[in-house]
Amino acid sequence: MKFLIHTYGCQMNVRDSEAVEALMIAAGHQTVATESEAEIVIVNSCTVRQKAEEKAVGKSGNLIAAGKITGMMGCAVKRMGGDIFKRLPKLHFAVGPRAFGMIPKIISDGVYPILETGEDTVPTGMDAHTETSWQSFVTVLLGCDNRCSYCIVPDVRGHEYSRPAKEIIAEVQALARRGVKEVCLLGQSVLRYGIRNKAWDDDTKEPFVRLLRELNEIEGLERIRFTSAHPKGCTDELIRVYNECPKVCRHLHLPVQSGSDRILSEMGRRYTRSEYLAAVDKLRSFDPEFSVTTDVIVGYPGETECDFEQTRSLMEEAGFDNSFVFKYSPRPGTRSAALCDDVPTAEKERRDQVLLSDQEIRGQRRNNRLIGTVREVLFEGPSKRKSDRYSGRDSGNRIIVWDKPEQCEQVPVLGQKLKIRVTHAHPQILIGECL
Ligand code: SAH
Ligand code: SF4
Repeated sequence: MKFLIHTYGCQMNVRDSEAVEALMIAAGHQTVATESEAEIVIVNSCTVRQKAEEKAVGKSGNLIAAGKITGMMGCAVKRMGGDIFKRLPKLHFAVGPRAFGMIPKIISDGVYPILETGEDTVPTGMDAHTETSWQSFVTVLLGCDNRCSYCIVPDVRGHEYSRPAKEIIAEVQALARRGVKEVCLLGQSVLRYGIRNKAWDDDTKEPFVRLLRELNEIEGLERIRFTSAHPKGCTDELIRVYNECPKVCRHLHLPVQSGSDRILSEMGRRYTRSEYLAAVDKLRSFDPEFSVTTDVIVGYPGETECDFEQTRSLMEEAGFDNSFVFKYSPRPGTRSAALCDDVPTAEKERRDQVLLSDQEIRGQRRNNRLIGTVREVLFEGPSKRKSDRYSGRDSGNRIIVWDKPEQCEQVPVLGQKLKIRVTHAHPQILIGECL
């Protein structure tokens, strides 16, 4: 049958959708580009904030009304459980984040409605990939055991489980053989890979670092990224890997959430402001252009103006290359949901705007330093905003665009390595010229 997947939420959902797409194709189904052509539509849902959940549920409702066979997968399914059919009585199937491998069978059985929330299992089809891109996500660590006070992820994605290193290496080797140039290893707290359960057959002190070293040897692969990280994982060994393994990209997404020690402790983040800043310093110690990006929550229960100013000043001290700001949203069953959500919406909005405009100035300043330097870029195709420009990213995950050459020279291949000299800088983007 003809099918389409809509994906909301994080990279892990993007990856799960890709695996489902590959499994569906293997089962004889066919992907289509538009909803109108599709007979089956699967909505991969997010629940990290209330709004995200509503989007996915709303979308599914519309599809049902349009007469499609509609299924939901992902985090909102696990959170809502059977209640999802109260909201959407005509939904055909709902499958939790650790049960997506069952989707092709559910469709071939054709017995609806059906709910598979899945437990702490490892989904089948973890290594299934489509053949459409030069970049690929690879999930290495499932679930999360951190239990930050505000976060619903551990409830919906289950306990941490590290996939065997052997399996991951084989998967990346296969991807590289078919032309994949860049992989991004995924885990909620990816530096905890191999800690809760053994990932290597023999004893290894730093299982994630060892994985990076092994992947660095894979022929044809150009770049290795990973996300997200926790400052506790920024060990000397990790810094050594950045220095010694040229394929490991000089960028780390290191969510800080707050700059106030009081709030950090209430969130259960297990680091202080100064420990966090020490981790950033360490990352930049061997390369001042090492790119550090972050997530911040504004309006956590009880966050005062003074706490917020601490976040502002931490962001300045850390000199983030980019940041993502989220307005606190209470999630059912989390520890902080029991606290009064006392920062008014308008104040959350104000704090959000302040951090965004700070980041514009800081991003501009960070990027200005790169003017005149030559960046090694992997080609990503025409720029999304201006089709007369090409676009790519450097090791620090910075987007760089440059004018298409006037003569009809050969178009670069996707994922091709190019050298671009930076001529202008904007807060979120660099402009350059191809050498
Ligand atoms: N595992 C990642 C984060 C996954 S959730 C990590 O810990 O690094 C992605 C981001 O959503 C978080 O970093 C946080 O900033 C935000 N977030 C999570 N729960 C939230 C909530 N209840 N309200 C607002 N933002 C939230
Ligand atoms: Fe959520 Fe914290 Fe786990 Fe990240 S580390 S997924 S914020 S509980």
